[in-house]
Amino acid sequence: MPDDCIFCKIVAGELPATIVDEDERTIAFMDIAPATRGHALVIPRAHSADLLSVDPQDLAAAALASQRLATRMRERLRVDGVNLVNSCGAVAWQTVFHFHIHVIPRYEDDPLQLPWKPAPGDSDEIAAAAEQLR
Ligand code: 5GP
Ligand code: ZN
Repeated sequence: MPDDCIFCKIVAGELPATIVDEDERTIAFMDIAPATRGHALVIPRAHSADLLSVDPQDLAAAALASQRLATRMRERLRVDGVNLVNSCGAVAWQTVFHFHIHVIPRYEDDPLQLPWKPAPGDSDEIAAAAEQLR
């Protein structure tokens, strides 16, 4: 683990965190700067920087833990919806470089907004990108 990774320190118990769920591969704890009431983070115990380097089994375990937490949010916090958010890379807003999934409760009257304005795209550009991805 990198010496300066705060999430590794939370896993090791060297930094405090409000843990709400744990299993063999993951832990989940409350975000210190919540987007909405109940905002939590799911992380693999094992360090990896981001989506592109996380162990596939840790990724699967984190996805399952996120679903578990979302279910609990619906039952106990009476949320109206949930966003799962992962940021991969600084340009994509990642600030902590230990892979994590944000589990963000959504409420009818919350202030969050979609970070892009949906508008029809250029069909040639869409097709060109698809060609590169296939
Ligand atoms: P990112 O910006 O990388 O997608 O998400 C990092 C998240 O970690 C942010 O939402 C931030 O509020 C949260 N965070 C940063 N430092 C700490 C900490 O020491 N403890 C907890 N619980 N959350 C943290
Ligand atoms: Zn780490």
